[in-house]
Amino acid sequence: MENQTENTNVTSENQQQFEPLHKSFCRECGTMISEKADICPNCGATQHRAKVIDDTPSAGLKVLSFFIPLVGLILFVVQSKDTPISAKEYGKWALIGFCTGIVLSIVWYFVVLASVSSMFKAFSF
Ligand SMILES: [Zn+2]
Repeated sequence: MENQTENTNVTSENQQQFEPLHKSFCRECGTMISEKADICPNCGATQHRAKVIDDTPSAGLKVLSFFIPLVGLILFVVQSKDTPISAKEYGKWALIGFCTGIVLSIVWYFVVLASVSSMFKAFSF
């Protein structure tokens, strides 16, 4: 029974050692504090860290921008300040979608024209 208690203690000690993986230092006094801490527990200084913005364009929004270029254009305008890389990507896909739309409508126009004219040919004898 005593051995089991000891084992549990060792395990919890090991876990504690693995916990402080993400540590940073206080800007004022240099004390090691948690990366997520906003205020230093030692001196009380506010930790002004550069806000890390995830500027990775989302695949879903790229697809949306492609199929609905207007959405891509809005995303481009709205996000160009905070996430310029993503905004540029959405704008690019909106442009590709827009051009594809034009090409498709031209193709569609000729397909309709061809089928209408062949229909007229079929009935005009
Ligand atoms: Zn401090």
